[in-house]
Amino acid sequence: MLYIVLLTPKCNSKCKYCGGFEDGLMPEKIQYSVEDLRKFVGNSSIAFYGGEPLLETEKMKEIMDHIDAERFILQTNGILLDKLDEEYLNRFSTILVSFDGRKNVHEFYRGNYERVLENAMRIKDFGGELIARMTASLETNIYEDVMHILSLDTFTHVHWQIDAIWSNYTAKEFEKWVENYNAGIRKLVKFWISELVKGKLHKIVPFMGVATAMFEGYQYPPCASGFESFAIATDGRILACPICPDLDWNCLGDIYTGINKKLDLLEPCPKCKYFRFCGGRCLFFNRERLWGEEGFKLVCSTVKNLVDSLLAYREELKNYRERLRYPRFLNTTEIIP
Ligand code: SF4
Ligand code: SF4
Repeated sequence: MLYIVLLTPKCNSKCKYCGGFEDGLMPEKIQYSVEDLRKFVGNSSIAFYGGEPLLETEKMKEIMDHIDAERFILQTNGILLDKLDEEYLNRFSTILVSFDGRKNVHEFYRGNYERVLENAMRIKDFGGELIARMTASLETNIYEDVMHILSLDTFTHVHWQIDAIWSNYTAKEFEKWVENYNAGIRKLVKFWISELVKGKLHKIVPFMGVATAMFEGYQYPPCASGFESFAIATDGRILACPICPDLDWNCLGDIYTGINKKLDLLEPCPKCKYFRFCGGRCLFFNRERLWGEEGFKLVCSTVKNLVDSLLAYREELKNYRERLRYPRFLNTTEIIP
């Protein structure tokens, strides 16, 4: 089980595609005691999340000192990573750093390329997974940006999430971009397979995750939100997915009384022939049709293209089944962009 602990809804960055949490959705600091948290999570894994979790480093350390979690994971924008003591740094199994690829793209959306890259380089030997966690938006060229990250030789893995559905542009604008994105994915898969058969595995999370699903299949969204992964808001509420604390269906209980609600995936996902490869992609996407049915289908077209591009190499992938298996433990990666 993975518990995503929201240390604060506050953030020290103003990324173009992220509005952050609206004021009033949850308190700025954790309201429950660390002992109450320990009683609820036991020895499960804990991922620190925000807002920006490193704004609450002292609380994070207190939790790490008090709870014997199976694994600790950190999802950060990387700005304050240099402030993290080595003693704590070395206890993380996975650190996900928001990083968008080429300098002009990262600067356009986030504006802190040099600092974040320097910080990532500084910690690259900490001993766990160091994942470049991209947001793929309209300025992204998925082939070029992933290739750039691979060329940096800093991150152990690359992962991305498409900026869709709750974006600040329309489905129509997204539609134009999807064509190039899908072509970029096909080009990237071709490159990835050509390297794999030569013995070099580039750890591209969506590719490894779909390859794993070819042999194992998903029963629910690969992020496991609401099934094996739960978020804990600063007021102690338990959420299926960390990003929408305002939605009723997403609130499942609290750390004092436990989880008292179960969620199902809605149609069309359970009956879709791609379900075993994508698990419905994302709980939020499955339940909230912010772009209507057409927008839903458009995003699905990216999933289907990704799966089909990899299925074309099913025979080759069979030979690397064990090496490709991902994730080996839940670490907040959504797997399906
Ligand atoms: S491809 Fe789309 S409709 Fe099919 S399971 Fe995935 S998210 Fe659901
Ligand atoms: S993939 Fe969707 S359901 Fe899962 S954590 Fe992300 S937004 Fe939430």
